[in-house]
Amino acid sequence: MSKGLSLWSFQSLSRKISGLSSILLGFLFVVILYSVIKLQQISMEMQEVARIDFPLTKVISELEVLQLEKHIIFEQIRYKKQHKNKVDLHHEIADEREQFNELSQRVTREIRLASEIINNGIISGNIEEKLDEHRRVIAMLTGFQQELNAFQSSAHTVFNILHQPDSDTHWEQLESELALLDGEAINLLAEIETLTEEIAENAVRHEREFFYVNTALGVSALIIGIYLTLYIISGFRRRVGEIQQGIDQLSQQISEGKGADEAAKITVKTDEFAGLATSMNAMVERFSTELDNRYEVEHKLLQLATTDKLTGAYNRHKWDESLAAEFLLAKRGSLLSVILIDLDHFKKINDNYGHDVGDKVLVQAIALIKKTIRESDLVFRLGGEEFAVLMRNQPLSEACVMAEKLRMTLAQTDIKDLPKFTGSFGVAQYTAEESIASFIKRADQAVYQAKNNGRNQVVKA
Ligand code: GH3
Ligand code: MG
Ligand code: MG
Repeated sequence: MSKGLSLWSFQSLSRKISGLSSILLGFLFVVILYSVIKLQQISMEMQEVARIDFPLTKVISELEVLQLEKHIIFEQIRYKKQHKNKVDLHHEIADEREQFNELSQRVTREIRLASEIINNGIISGNIEEKLDEHRRVIAMLTGFQQELNAFQSSAHTVFNILHQPDSDTHWEQLESELALLDGEAINLLAEIETLTEEIAENAVRHEREFFYVNTALGVSALIIGIYLTLYIISGFRRRVGEIQQGIDQLSQQISEGKGADEAAKITVKTDEFAGLATSMNAMVERFSTELDNRYEVEHKLLQLATTDKLTGAYNRHKWDESLAAEFLLAKRGSLLSVILIDLDHFKKINDNYGHDVGDKVLVQAIALIKKTIRESDLVFRLGGEEFAVLMRNQPLSEACVMAEKLRMTLAQTDIKDLPKFTGSFGVAQYTAEESIASFIKRADQAVYQAKNNGRNQVVKA
C-alpha cells in the first residue's frame, strides 16, 4: 500500500490528473451504461403497459359494463315474465332477445380482443414479465367464451319456451347458470386486473429505483469531479508555492548580503515544474558564485584602498577613518592612546645605502612593530618614514610602556644586509573636550621633542 502511494507521489502532475480523470470517466461510463440499460428496460415496461395493460384495462371496464347490461336485460325479461301475458311473451321479449344477442356478440368481441392483445404481446415480445400468468389468462378467456356460448344457446332455448306453463324450472336453471357465469366473469376480470396492476406497479418501482440509483451515481461522480479539481488546484499551488518559497529565500539571502545556500534550492520532482526547478537551482548556484566573486573583489578593493602597498600597514586614508571612529567612542569616555613614530636620520639611510635599502628598512620597521603590538592595536604608515600606533582602551601609561618596547625592538634589531635604525616616539592619551587635531598635534610635538632630545627615545605629551 505504502509502496503504491510512494510510486503515486513520484508521478508527474499530468500523469496523476490523467489517472484520476480515467477513473472519473470510467465511473461516468458505468453511470451512462447503467442509465441506458435501465431506461431501455423501463421503456419496454412502459410499452408493455401502454400496448397491453392499458387496452386490457379498457376491455375489463367494457366487459363490466356489458355484465351490467346483461343483468338489466335479464331483469326486464324477468319482469315481463311475471307481469305480461304468457302467450304473448314470445313477442314481448323480442327486443330483449335482440339486445341479448347483440350483447353476446359484443362480449365475444371484447373477449377476442383481450385474447388478441395478450397473444400479440407474447408474439411481439412485448410481454416479458409474468408470461405464464398471461398464458393462463388466455386459457381462462377461451374457457369463459365456451361457457358463454353454452349459456347463450341454453338462454335461447329457454327464451323460446317461456310462454309454456312449465317454463319456470328452465328459467330458474338459466338464472343459476347466469350466476355461475357471473362468478366466472368476476374471477376472470379480477385475474386480469391483478396482472395489469402488478405490471404497472413493477414499472413504477423500476422507475423509482432508477431515479435513486442514478441520483446516487450522479452525486458520486460529482464528488469525484470536485475532489479531482481540488487535487489538481492544490497540486499546482503546492509546487508553485515551493518555487515561490525558494525565490523568496534566495532574495532574502541576497538582501542579507549572504551567498545563496542549499536551503534556497528547490526540490526537483518528476513533474512539469522539474524544468523550472532545475533552472531555478542553476540560477541560484550561478548567483551564489557571482556573489562570492563580488565579495572577493570587494575585499581586495577594500584592502587596496586601506593599506600601504610597500609595508602592508594601514594607510593615511584608513588612519583618518579609524581616528574619526575612535574619536566618537573616546568622546563618550572610552580610553584612546596614540604612539607616533618617526625613523631617525632616514635620509642618511637612503643616501648611504640607496632607496631600495631604505624601502626594506621601512618594511622591516612595520614588521617589527606589528610583531610587538597587541591584537587590538592598529599600525598605520602616515607617509615616508612616519608611522602611528592607535591603542584602543589603553591609558597613557600602557602606551608609554608599549612605545618603549617598540623603541627597544627597533634599536636592538640587527638584520643581515640592512643598516641598524632607530625611531623617535611621541605618546599621547586623548583628553576630554579635546579635538582630534589637538590630540594628534600633542603627539606630534612629543615626537619633535624626542628628536630635539637626541632621538631614539620616547616622549609623552
Ligand atoms: P630626522 O631624524 O630628523 O627625522 O631625519 P630624517 O632624515 O628622517 O628627516 P626627514 O623626515 O625630513 O626625511 C625623511 C626622508 O624619507 C625623506 C625622503 O627621501 C625619505 N622617504 C620618504 N618616503 C620614502 C620611501 O618611500 N622610501 C624611501 N627609501 N625613502 C623615503
Ligand atoms: Mg620624517
Ligand atoms: Mg625621520
